[in-house]
Amino acid sequence: MIPRLKPAIGGRELRAAWQADSGNVARFEREFAGHFEAREAIAFSYGRSALWALLKALGLANAEVVMPAYTCVAVAHATVLSGNTPVFVDVRPDDYNIDLDQLADALTPATRVVVPTHLFGCPMNVDRVEEIVRTAETRWGQKIWIVQDCAHAFGARWRGQRVSRRRDAALFGLNISKAMTSIFGGMITTDDERLAAAVRAVRDREFVDPRAWHALRQGVYLTLAAAAFSRPLYGLTEWLQHSTPALDRLTKAYHLETGIQFPPDAMRRMAAGEAGVGRVQLARYEEMEAHRIRTAAAYDDALRDVPGLALPPKVPGSTYSHYAVRVPDRAHVCRVARRLGVELGTLIEYSIPERPDYASYAGAGAFPVARACSTSTVNLPVHMGVTAAVRRRVADAVRAAMGEIQADRRVA
Ligand SMILES: *Cc1c(COP(=O)(O)O)cnc(C)c1O
Repeated sequence: MIPRLKPAIGGRELRAAWQADSGNVARFEREFAGHFEAREAIAFSYGRSALWALLKALGLANAEVVMPAYTCVAVAHATVLSGNTPVFVDVRPDDYNIDLDQLADALTPATRVVVPTHLFGCPMNVDRVEEIVRTAETRWGQKIWIVQDCAHAFGARWRGQRVSRRRDAALFGLNISKAMTSIFGGMITTDDERLAAAVRAVRDREFVDPRAWHALRQGVYLTLAAAAFSRPLYGLTEWLQHSTPALDRLTKAYHLETGIQFPPDAMRRMAAGEAGVGRVQLARYEEMEAHRIRTAAAYDDALRDVPGLALPPKVPGSTYSHYAVRVPDRAHVCRVARRLGVELGTLIEYSIPERPDYASYAGAGAFPVARACSTSTVNLPVHMGVTAAVRRRVADAVRAAMGEIQADRRVA
């Protein structure tokens, strides 16, 4: 079975996970900032804790935080748990990102933050986002912070410039399903030194050092994850995943199923071993990104003429954390592909305002595109295990699955 995702964990990462060098976190922050050309980087245990700390550092309470309806619910959780109010905007079917025409209407005098998400690594038109925000700032005479959600878009560029370097700060997620990993982990980057100092102050005040047993647990977790995704064991892993809930924690975003809450260890700081793994991964980041971009281009070519299949947007500067396509009957497509030895992923299976826990924040808004995306997108594997031969098998499986669907439709 070709796995839908596979963290690139090798011997160096496994060794790093067990090193308890307390200087590692500061080193990882400096190297991360250097690599992504930010003045400052501040590390956390999760992306959502990083966003929570940023919203606290901005001194916000009861502020409106505008975000896409189709994104990781952790962003909305961080907003609510920091005492603020998420405001959802529908996305566009052509790039899965915030609909810019609707964004302008969503900004009110209570808006203090806008979170443009560059979903699946596809950069938004950040020039337009800034224009819209500037207009609102002038109109209401107050600053609106822009937080680029780069959890999928490490390295993504809009017109040649990193989206993470645009106004005012950027958010990264580093769990094992992301474009690079520090086991768990999240990061804020910014060029604003005062803001960075405020975020650090929140971390120093509100977050606790990980316990020793925690470091041990993280090392065991990474080792098990590496084993579970290894070729000899993956058949078992895949079976366990489909047939039992035992392995959900390996690949599912952590604690995102129900309720507005953080995982129990969200308020701890990043551990030394995690930072060590992050440093090893950072050194391999460009290689992994180039591999994803190449793989995506090859899928584009191989799948161009498949009837009924909507391919990802072709936006220059995309870094393809995921290669997401839309299909008419997702469950059926995944079933057929699986029969052919290819596991297809489904990433965000909800539109946030339609989740019961967010019903009270949905307002009168309509989010038809977010709903359509939540039921029709699947992602093809782009991880380091996807060689040219694997890529062809994946493309063939997708083509075969789409063929079956079209044939069924003709019969029906
Ligand atoms: C994963 C993710 C986050 C948050 O990261 P966690 O580490 O899971 O809290 C934020 N935004 C998006 C789009 C993500 O995919």
